[in-house]
Amino acid sequence: MSKSPKDLVREEVLALAAYHVADATGMVKLDAMENPYALPRAVQREIADLISGAAVNRYPNPQAPELKARLRQVMAIPDAFHILIGNGSDEIIQIVIQALARPGAVVLAPDPTFVMYRLYSLVNRMRYVGVKLEPDFTLDCARLLAAIEEHQPALTFIAYPNNPTGTLYPEADVLRILRAAPGVVVLDEAYHAFAKKSFIGRLAEFPNLVVMRTLSKVGMAGLRMGYAVGSPAWMLEFDKVRPPYNVNVLTQLVAERLLVHIDVLEHQAAAICEERGRLKSALEVLPGVTVFASAANFLLVRVPDSGKVFAAMKERGVLVKDLHGSHPLLAQCLRITAGAADENTRCLDALRNSL
Ligand code: PMP
Repeated sequence: MSKSPKDLVREEVLALAAYHVADATGMVKLDAMENPYALPRAVQREIADLISGAAVNRYPNPQAPELKARLRQVMAIPDAFHILIGNGSDEIIQIVIQALARPGAVVLAPDPTFVMYRLYSLVNRMRYVGVKLEPDFTLDCARLLAAIEEHQPALTFIAYPNNPTGTLYPEADVLRILRAAPGVVVLDEAYHAFAKKSFIGRLAEFPNLVVMRTLSKVGMAGLRMGYAVGSPAWMLEFDKVRPPYNVNVLTQLVAERLLVHIDVLEHQAAAICEERGRLKSALEVLPGVTVFASAANFLLVRVPDSGKVFAAMKERGVLVKDLHGSHPLLAQCLRITAGAADENTRCLDALRNSL
């Protein structure tokens, strides 16, 4: 008798639900925190020239020296710290967890937060401790410090700002966490381009601090490129777990070149922040709608009936993310990515007519 998946697949995996990505064909896509803007024509041509000569017959250089040098320059990464590159920061999360997944070891994070921290922890048989945020998604730092004291986590994730809430925790609280945490602290700065706050400049003070970023939110989501910065002692261990050719030839080339044009991307990020402000002002005055403070390129909003609003917006061609059911604190919440001006106008019209 041949065995079925139920007989052979690990219990942790059987218990998971696959990460759901909605079909967005033909929709105003405001569900995944992407940058809505195209590249200027001249930059598009530059990229086309570059990839036409790419050595796709060769494996990529696993150390990606040009890309790393450019990151170092553009992101002001001090020489004393190593850079780990990933196929998206999703892969960096996976790598760090795999390296630290001793039996019984704990991963701790505020809750709700980015779902992949929990998913990869459970797949790797780590114990995941989510420490509840306040109902308005601010951090109860005392509660988090008490949980750190109690569980002694090998790994703590702080999304700064947080997804899906947009909350930027006070710098003083993050410092308290960094002083108290016994293990590695990954400060996930995925939304750095919008929040403009970073701990990269404080790496020297905290030997167990790893600052993680992604190029996804600044207009390169399709390239899949994330990176982490930390002390050599940790990064050399994490690098052993990394698949050597994880960042492909085209991604290395294109990301390096687009970072030369960081001013274009930063300009786009500033426009997105302005649009976030406009969306927020327009949403807050709608009856029955609560908008939470956000330092990222999206807004978390609570509506009277998120299922109904989500479906009605979708009918009108606007795709957002319904978070109802994903966490008790997120009841009736939608996450809306700030898009381009015309997309946001369509989103606002659709939402007004869907309440
Ligand atoms: N961290 C946070 C906080 C995120 O919100 C996301 C994307 N949703 C990621 C990491 C992963 O991004 P990527 O894999 O595209 O780099």
